[in-house]
Amino acid sequence: MQQSIRLRTRKKFEVVDLTREVAAVVAEARVDEGICTVFVRHATAAVIINENADPGFRTDVVAALDKLFPEGVWEHDKVDDNGAAHLKAAFLGPSETVPVRQGQLLLGTWQGIALVECDGPREREVIVDVR
Ligand code: ZN
Repeated sequence: MQQSIRLRTRKKFEVVDLTREVAAVVAEARVDEGICTVFVRHATAAVIINENADPGFRTDVVAALDKLFPEGVWEHDKVDDNGAAHLKAAFLGPSETVPVRQGQLLLGTWQGIALVECDGPREREVIVDVR
């Protein structure tokens, strides 16, 4: 089973939790044992699994990536001025996979699934594939 989650990000660079939305798709799929792939269909956004209880962590992701990939010094900036956004997204990757058991994501207690917007605000589409 496959569904799209469509969302509008609000900032240039932010972390948006998607755990509840993904869990709803997984519950609907009624898979006994399987996997759930979460994939973002864009070159300047990424999907991560990490700490989702502390909003400070989301701020840290933004700050750390800004230190790793400063703005305005990349070849791609000559094309459309968002080289740092592409590098951040490529570094994190466009997808994550989570095991599923009895219709539930087997995430750890402190793990959540999040979209990382690297060049917003934009409309984004995330594919959730459960099988
Ligand atoms: Zn670009």
